[in-house]
Amino acid sequence: MNVIAKPNDIAGLIEADRAHVWHHLSQHKPYETIDPRIMIEGRGMRLWDATGKEYLDAVSGGVWTVNVGYGRESIANAVRDQLVKLNYFAGSAGSEPGARFAQKLIEKMPGLTRVYYSNSGSEANEKVFKMVRQLSAQVHGGKKSKILYRERDYHGTTLGVLAACGQPQRASHYGPFPEGFVEVPHCLEYRNQYPDAPHYGIAAANAIEEVILREGPDTIGLLCLEPVTAGGGVIAPPEGYWPRVQEICAKYDILLHIDEVVCGLGRTGTWFGYQQYGVKPDFVTMAKGLASGYAAISCTVTTEAVFEMFKNDPSDPLNYFRDISTFGGCLAGPAAALENMRIIEDEDLLGNTTRMGERLRANLLALQEKHAAIGDVRGVGLFQGAELVADRTTKEPLAEAKVQAVVAHCMKNGVIIGATNRSLPGLNNTLCLSPALIATADDIDAITNAIDAALTEVMG
Ligand code: PLP
Repeated sequence: MNVIAKPNDIAGLIEADRAHVWHHLSQHKPYETIDPRIMIEGRGMRLWDATGKEYLDAVSGGVWTVNVGYGRESIANAVRDQLVKLNYFAGSAGSEPGARFAQKLIEKMPGLTRVYYSNSGSEANEKVFKMVRQLSAQVHGGKKSKILYRERDYHGTTLGVLAACGQPQRASHYGPFPEGFVEVPHCLEYRNQYPDAPHYGIAAANAIEEVILREGPDTIGLLCLEPVTAGGGVIAPPEGYWPRVQEICAKYDILLHIDEVVCGLGRTGTWFGYQQYGVKPDFVTMAKGLASGYAAISCTVTTEAVFEMFKNDPSDPLNYFRDISTFGGCLAGPAAALENMRIIEDEDLLGNTTRMGERLRANLLALQEKHAAIGDVRGVGLFQGAELVADRTTKEPLAEAKVQAVVAHCMKNGVIIGATNRSLPGLNNTLCLSPALIATADDIDAITNAIDAALTEVMG
């Protein structure tokens, strides 16, 4: 039995939270009648709330972040040591952890050479969009300024990246947005938009080409995609999709940006999700698992060719990337990220992710045999989803209330799972599972046993 340090005034803590904290992604109303859940402590795969209740975390901190698990003293120590040595310096100077981490990261990303630091996934993505807009002005005479994004993908919360949001309710009410963002169709074979096509993956990639031809290839500078769509439904790309996408980008001279904010740093069993598919990106962005939530850090990584385009005319005073992120100068970030990477490597967490991902998938497929509500099981590594349906033949999505009841039942039994966020009208019906990369076979079985019990209870 674990003993955690409970706060001494739980009622006061809950009251302070209820009175003053505006919770992320939450309706306010329920907090008038229920107590907010306040997480106090974490170790490994487990968390404890203010009341002492223990949870097994199957979503790595709620949003796929704590890749190496809770309570890592070596990361805390690395951050502490760096902070007392030098906490911060920004602008044009480099730093010791910044240089060392960039070098280590680049070793894992053949073909890419340059790392730009900032501190959230949204910001890392927005840097790419700004670079593309600057290249349009500086190199392409105003052409190639449009940015393609995919239906059901998400790239962040600021207005710039919300303009590239494939999840309608996330963007709804926040416009007007910057211009020049164009959506391409999703690639979820379970909800096949091209039933007559002989090969789904090729058809889904060809749909991107159709958009490019419609808009005019010389207007488009960037295609931005998640390697495996996360909050949009855990969509692993269909076979044949990525090679064709790569071909299309090369054909029309369009830069390829892979948003690895969720999949980066091991989630799929390779360092990056795109490496599962042999893709050669021009930009890669990462955040969440980069330092496993021990510090705020994100990176925009690109090629020497892109970097070179920002110094192609020394006589032009505006042709460098005129951007800064104040807290891109916080040195806790690269210090934590360096130790995070060491842990992933030394503990073979990529191997564990592959092995445990296979177990998670096998367990979910076994549950699919038992529960008619599971229409589809999909994902890569320790990032798996189970799409719930009311009817397997018609694939009618299970009602949101029932999906939430499954999540709530697991939570009541001490297992935290996730579901597609509520930004996909009618399609908020996929359970999302992304345990830390340290998960054991027992943890995986406990997660799927909780889902089994919840489906039995909720579906009768
Ligand atoms: N990109 C993807 C794929 C994400 O899932 C998210 C957040 O969930 C972001 C970008 C935005 O990251 P952040 O919340 O750190 O700004």
